[in-house]
Amino acid sequence: KQAAYAKLRDVEPFTRDGERIEVMMNAGLRDDMSMLAVTGADGIGLYRTEFQFLVSAALPQRERQARLYRDVLDAAKGKKVVFRTVDIGGDKQLPYISSENAKEDENPAMGWRALRLALEREGLMKVQARALLEGSAGRELNVMFPMVSEPWEFDAAKEVFDSQLAYLKKRKHQLPSCINYGVMLEVPSLAEQLDLLLPRLKFISIGTNDLTQFLFAADRANPMLAERYDWLSPSILRFLARVVQTCVGQPVDLGVCGEMGGRRLEALALIGLGIRRLSITPAAVGQIKELVRKVDTKEIGDAMRGWLASPPPDMRAALTEWAEA
Ligand code: PEP
Ligand code: MG
Repeated sequence: KQAAYAKLRDVEPFTRDGERIEVMMNAGLRDDMSMLAVTGADGIGLYRTEFQFLVSAALPQRERQARLYRDVLDAAKGKKVVFRTVDIGGDKQLPYISSENAKEDENPAMGWRALRLALEREGLMKVQARALLEGSAGRELNVMFPMVSEPWEFDAAKEVFDSQLAYLKKRKHQLPSCINYGVMLEVPSLAEQLDLLLPRLKFISIGTNDLTQFLFAADRANPMLAERYDWLSPSILRFLARVVQTCVGQPVDLGVCGEMGGRRLEALALIGLGIRRLSITPAAVGQIKELVRKVDTKEIGDAMRGWLASPPPDMRAALTEWAEA
């Protein structure tokens, strides 16, 4: 099977009706970058920068961060890389970032994490912003903010980048050739104000891992709940359909970067909803490319519209049947 996927490495994922689906991969370590060539993925749709922080005994210095970002871009050889700013805190506690209240975080996934923490620890955010700007000198920089729950959080985070950019400009440092800012949509509250934030965004990436846990109020790390809620539940699909609807006709790139996109039926459902960019675990790239080539976007789009309007008793069974027909 691996050999079959290797054959797909250089094949562009076009659907039967000629739609190009972007199949990107998620990464978090410099070593992951070798998988780009192995899988033939279109780029890195989610680079989890917190990995460097998690493996360090102290807050990574700016030069070290910048070197990593530069190395990642070098390894990408011109393919797109989306850097997500740190998603630490919550259950990913770091000894060198302390909070008086950290130990009282009884619901760490919903706690003081990601942007919530980064905006309060200005030093951390400023240093990462500078490192990302310096590491991308002369090249395109794509920055994505995690756990944005309300539009002002995006503005506050971008402001940190703007002031670092102004600093570098004043000192005549080489700047990135272009900077694109986007958000992860993984907290349901953002969806209700997405139209308001949209004009300021270049891209949105739906993080279905966290989104699902928040939508169902079901801890993604609790094995007792792992089988209870299905990614193909009408609750999720209708939610995603509304997000897609909000973005239709807007100059914003919409994709999905959660694990959902790496599974065949789920990817099929996402394409049916109108998603055209997936960022998934490297191991799934081959099989998702293979799936894309069998899909007709109009057919699955029509089927999905019907299922959303009147959901079948078992969406998974309906999709399986459709896929096998
Ligand atoms: C997500 O939440 O779906 C996601 C892609 O980010 P992470 O798994 O790192 O929380
Ligand atoms: Mg997440």
